[in-house]
Amino acid sequence: MTSTLTPASHRANFAIGSEITAKHVVDRLTESFFEGQAAVAAFERPDGLWNITVNFADPPDQASIRELVGLAAGDDIARHVTFDTVEAKDWVKASLEDLVPVPAGRFIVHGQHDRDRVPSNKLGIEIEAALAFGTGHHGTTRGCLLALDALVKRRRSRRVLDLGTGSGVLAIAAAKILRTRVIASDIDRVAIEAARGNARLNRAGTITFARAAGTKASAIASGAPYDLILANILLGPLMRLSGPLRRLAARHARVVLSGLLPGHANAAIAIYRAQGFALERRVPLDGWVTLILRR
Ligand code: SAH
Repeated sequence: MTSTLTPASHRANFAIGSEITAKHVVDRLTESFFEGQAAVAAFERPDGLWNITVNFADPPDQASIRELVGLAAGDDIARHVTFDTVEAKDWVKASLEDLVPVPAGRFIVHGQHDRDRVPSNKLGIEIEAALAFGTGHHGTTRGCLLALDALVKRRRSRRVLDLGTGSGVLAIAAAKILRTRVIASDIDRVAIEAARGNARLNRAGTITFARAAGTKASAIASGAPYDLILANILLGPLMRLSGPLRRLAARHARVVLSGLLPGHANAAIAIYRAQGFALERRVPLDGWVTLILRR
């Protein structure tokens, strides 16, 4: 998943032969980086190989990355790692051009140019293409929107936390459909700015934004206990957050976790089970898994 929000994103790319090896390598690499330092993503190619991309906030030391990849995947693959830089300007332009409306349950995520084309039976979420992750196009964002759609049909959540809000898409969706207070946080300052802008654009006035690593913000503590927590991050941070999220979750709260590859889901379920959460539902989508857990 590309969650790098810095002005330029630096990438290392390589291909792996099988899904199992790809997942193993993603796990090994994810463990090797500090939180926020790198984001590792795997995508299946039409030819069955798996592309692995590591996104870095800062230009990586190529020799050490090759060494890490070598340890995780073998020297042959390490030799074939390529490095490139994606300029933020190009990325924004590309996403503006590519942005087609994305339906997910009752929601439809769209750009400005489709503002007048939201079907009357859908709840439109307008996202300005910017440097924050979450235009609705990614399987994890859509998985969370589908989970949210399914959950609100059954219960009325009043206190919502969106951890790793990116563009603010999930916080806006929750605020709009539940008409309730939402605390939205992100480790990345650029994301928080983008999310604030998107909340204004959507007149989602009940969202409080906080910049924080994990749950370390007074706004997050003071909004607890939450009866709905959305966290679309990645396996590594999600594992570390199981304890803090349990402490923030009300009894019977639902927690939606995403950013998980199918091979990651069981590890996440196990660690959340140890904190007293039960699995309610798995939502597989585009090679990713979103989990709905119940406290
Ligand atoms: N919620 C959005 C964005 C998901 S991308 C969506 O569903 O589309 C994941 C976001 O989590 C990124 O914006 C990234 O900056 C943020 N993030 C990653 N690690 C984090 C951490 N430890 N604490 C808070 N936010 C984090």
